[in-house]
Amino acid sequence: MTVVQGSSDPAVPGFPAAPVFSAVTAGRLAELVGAAGFTGSQVTAIRAVAEVLPFRTNRYVVEELIDWSAVPDDPIYRLVFPQEDMLPAGDVARIADLLTRGAAPKEVAAAANAVRRRLNPHPAGQLELNVPRHAGAPLPGMQHKYRETVLFFPKQGQTCHSYCTYCFRWAQFVGDADLKMASGDIGQLKRYLADHPEVSNVLFTGGDPMIMRAGVLRRYVEPLLELDQLESLRIGTKALSYWPYKFTTDPDADDMLRLFEEVSRSGKDLSVMAHFSHPRELRTPVVEQAVRRLRGAGASIRTQAPLMRYINDDPAVWSAMWSRQVSMGMVPYYMFVERDTGPQEYFKVSLADAHDIFRRAYRDVSGLCRTVRGPSMSTTSGKVCVDGVVDVAGEKVFALHYIQCRDADAVGRPFYAKFDPAAAWFSELVPAFDGGFPAGAA
Ligand SMILES: *Cc1c(COP(=O)(O)O)cnc(C)c1O
Ligand code: SF4
Repeated sequence: MTVVQGSSDPAVPGFPAAPVFSAVTAGRLAELVGAAGFTGSQVTAIRAVAEVLPFRTNRYVVEELIDWSAVPDDPIYRLVFPQEDMLPAGDVARIADLLTRGAAPKEVAAAANAVRRRLNPHPAGQLELNVPRHAGAPLPGMQHKYRETVLFFPKQGQTCHSYCTYCFRWAQFVGDADLKMASGDIGQLKRYLADHPEVSNVLFTGGDPMIMRAGVLRRYVEPLLELDQLESLRIGTKALSYWPYKFTTDPDADDMLRLFEEVSRSGKDLSVMAHFSHPRELRTPVVEQAVRRLRGAGASIRTQAPLMRYINDDPAVWSAMWSRQVSMGMVPYYMFVERDTGPQEYFKVSLADAHDIFRRAYRDVSGLCRTVRGPSMSTTSGKVCVDGVVDVAGEKVFALHYIQCRDADAVGRPFYAKFDPAAAWFSELVPAFDGGFPAGAA
């Protein structure tokens, strides 16, 4: 298949030095996975999964990151391509049958929607909770959960250069208008910040804000530079992994870097919160160049990713990833636990295993990599870190603490849950010693 030929070197003939971004979508799924050796019925099952979970990628991911000789076990393939067993077999069979029979698109969509509703599309109260208010009215496109940080979802930043099969924001991408939360109103954010001098950080998130043109991002960022209260602007992105050309050869790459320079010069930190799932994403010459250019523009880069079965559930993968990040000048920040949404059953790692993987990776790296925290669960009340499994007063328990909490007083206090080898999310934990969890825990 021509689209997957070539090596991991973007300088190979056939892969342009300055490629133009173009999304690869579900229409090409059958061609891509068919050429990878799946049978006809497997291809139909994969297409059925893609009716439920959003699929989108691009030529860089397909040609430079995925090792097609290792498909389906290849970690980047698992990260981006739908798999037959990601959803319950009955659901897949029902939709595959509709596709085989050539059912009307409306009928297929209705079946897919029914499956989606059973996948907890809005974990941790994303839509209802944490939406700030101004003069009594809710402010869409913003979340204010922790005292010092406001999340802002710019409306032009609600897609990504490629989608992760494990994305907890997947419901935002499937075209249901009710599920979208985004704002185009920076004035509203500014007014809110003026009323909340305790906010020192604004985190642009999505989707991926780096899907925006530099000129569009500038309209959001520049007004914030006047605010003395802000110490940092952060941008959550996976563009370094999925489309590093955003910072090298894209038509707006230089303008983007100039904007980041302006933020640094204004006396604020510009932090790129970079999502990397696997060390493979750190090996191409273009990602190296993108990181060098970002750092040259004064940006700091912190890294984070969830721990996922089949993709990175191996301590050696994490220690290699953190070491490589540090040698490239990036700062390891969070290891997350997979949330209770979408194909959680497929990807989940128990909390006990998650901690073991974290500890063994952490043990094997230098102190410079140990800026990383985790494994951390983003729950309704806050970020809960699993510190380990210990015996206390004859009882085997998980030791936990809040890294972040809506109730700031609970941050950093140790607390305990009964040990459960199968537990994979906070909701499955029970307080130990007949105590309770810290105030606000849910
Ligand atoms: C993680 C997170 C933040 C940022 O927390 P830090 O610990 O400062 O990185 C802010 N808001 C929400 C909702 C978050 O989940
Ligand atoms: S890059 Fe982030 S927002 Fe986009 S699909 Fe992946 S996890 Fe979701």
